[in-house]
Amino acid sequence: MKHTDALDILQTIYGYESFRPQQARIIDSVISGNDALVLMPTGGGKSLCYQVPALARDGTGIVVSPLIALMQDQVDALKALNLNAAFINSSMSSAAVRDTEEAMRCGDIDLLYVAPERLLMPSTLNLLDDCTIALFAIDEAHCVSQWGHDFRKEYMGLNVLHERYPDVPRIALTATADQRTREEIVNNLSLDNAGQFISSFDRPNIRYAISDAGNARDSLLRFLDDNHQGDAGIVYCLSRKKVEETAAWLCKQGRTALPYHAGLDAATRELHQSRFLREEGVVVVATIAFGMGIDKPDVRFVAHLNLPKSVEAYYQETGRAGRDGQPANAWMSYGLQDVINLRAMMGDSDADEQHKRVEHQKLEAMLGLAELSTCRRQALLAYFDDELPKPCGNCDNCLHPPTTWDATEAAQKALSCVYRTGQRFGVNYLIDVLLGKPTERVLSFGHDKQSTFGIGTDRNATQWRTLYRQLIAKGLLSVDVGGHGSVMLTEQSRPILRGERTLQLRHIKSAGAGGAKPRRHQAVDQIAPEDRGLWEKLRTLRTSLAEGKPAYIVFSDSSLIDMLDQKPTSHEQMSAVSGVGKHKLEKYGDAFIEVIREHDMFSDMDA
Ligand code: ADP
Ligand code: ZN
Repeated sequence: MKHTDALDILQTIYGYESFRPQQARIIDSVISGNDALVLMPTGGGKSLCYQVPALARDGTGIVVSPLIALMQDQVDALKALNLNAAFINSSMSSAAVRDTEEAMRCGDIDLLYVAPERLLMPSTLNLLDDCTIALFAIDEAHCVSQWGHDFRKEYMGLNVLHERYPDVPRIALTATADQRTREEIVNNLSLDNAGQFISSFDRPNIRYAISDAGNARDSLLRFLDDNHQGDAGIVYCLSRKKVEETAAWLCKQGRTALPYHAGLDAATRELHQSRFLREEGVVVVATIAFGMGIDKPDVRFVAHLNLPKSVEAYYQETGRAGRDGQPANAWMSYGLQDVINLRAMMGDSDADEQHKRVEHQKLEAMLGLAELSTCRRQALLAYFDDELPKPCGNCDNCLHPPTTWDATEAAQKALSCVYRTGQRFGVNYLIDVLLGKPTERVLSFGHDKQSTFGIGTDRNATQWRTLYRQLIAKGLLSVDVGGHGSVMLTEQSRPILRGERTLQLRHIKSAGAGGAKPRRHQAVDQIAPEDRGLWEKLRTLRTSLAEGKPAYIVFSDSSLIDMLDQKPTSHEQMSAVSGVGKHKLEKYGDAFIEVIREHDMFSDMDA
């Protein structure tokens, strides 16, 4: 039976009260048969934008998705709503494929997930010819863009859908924000006549914090202990080696931490991803190979132990936190070596000029964001041409505004040490000279006789390292491309050396000592202490009902938090809880009501 009314579908099947404003516009347009391009941040609610029209229109909604490994979970989530969902992919037996094809031909499937290469096979297209198609949804549509880092050449072939099924509406969706990707999606998928629906890219529930206080591991552990006892999250590192080491170290600290990178075999990767999705409180330590399409709504934090290569990458990776709209943290720690690596990459001259210029701008923007002393969210959104009129109040710089100091004299010492030693040494060596350490190397070059030898004893090595990092980040020093890390003066350093310009730098709060302890930002903070016990019981119940599938498929954190607020003890009350639709009420309602009643009885006895 087809529902015709979108709002009725939302309330009865999904158990949600109302559409978000953008969703309503998109869904109306697609139901009327128009093409759409949807740019919406992670957690914005893209899935409903194609699922609801697919249910409202005649026929099957075909969902093109690049992620075969996640199709099972996507389909399970829809089945939990009592919808007829299926997928066809290369992991299935031919008998299973035939069954699904048969169901398709009978018109028994509401939503079919398929990877682009499979969709474009003649056998699949022949199948579609025999069926009524409600719409094509092209998920992760930025994969058609060569500009972004997720390019998949199979996406290029999707143009055929437009030619072969001109009357079927197509809806392309992505969380990637930039203008150039958007243009490529329109061009490569022939979406010239599509309505463009572009949301704000702000993720207000994510708190941004970027720390440069040294000792990244200790800071990470403190951050996790303060904010994320027992929470699921992702820790990003640049190299496979660092991924392995960090995961092992976190395990030693008593966390469940699993490595994920392209060097692990497919089975291990799949196991780790699956445990992350199914168990509570798993931390995945990963390279950028991990994350696309991960639908887990309750990732409570994303931590970076290295600077990402661009603001786009930073935004996308941090965006995996807090999809459910509950408080989440995006935390990063970086240091001198990160800045040196990025700067060295900028000098790398393999790429053609045009490409190089673009890369430089991207790296420069990322460094700028890291070294910023004003609101991070404003800068992040401005980068995507999105405007936030006032500082956000929910980033580290808003919460603990950094102070600055006059660094002119210190910078002059640091820069002239570079100059006097011939612009061919790295930071560690320069610091030895500044501190007047007569090491073997220093002596062998005769730098103990230089005027800069020992002029920096008013500061310690860590402070000099921080200063050099800031000078490099600001472009007052360049880094040699050969990878030796030697630093050189730039055009911009001369006015400072000559005393024609002064330099203000941000105070770095040293880790641990001094500095206000960052205010906690936790999802569980919204749960009243007397409800914590019930919260745990509801979570346990959810896991046991999930039967090995991801627990959020039963109910999301948001639904459980709503239950704590409302304490429903009847079906009628339960159906008012967000995310409790008709089918889930019948299937799970009694079990949750029983736990809530029991808890109420005991707390009455206490009183
Ligand atoms: P995206 O794909 O854009 O990252 P999702 O489709 O996964 O976002 O939706 C994010 C979360 O918001 C999900 O838990 C979803 O169920 C919830 N959600 C989406 N639309 C609504 C709505 N209209 N009312 C309440 N919750 C919603
Ligand atoms: Zn801010």
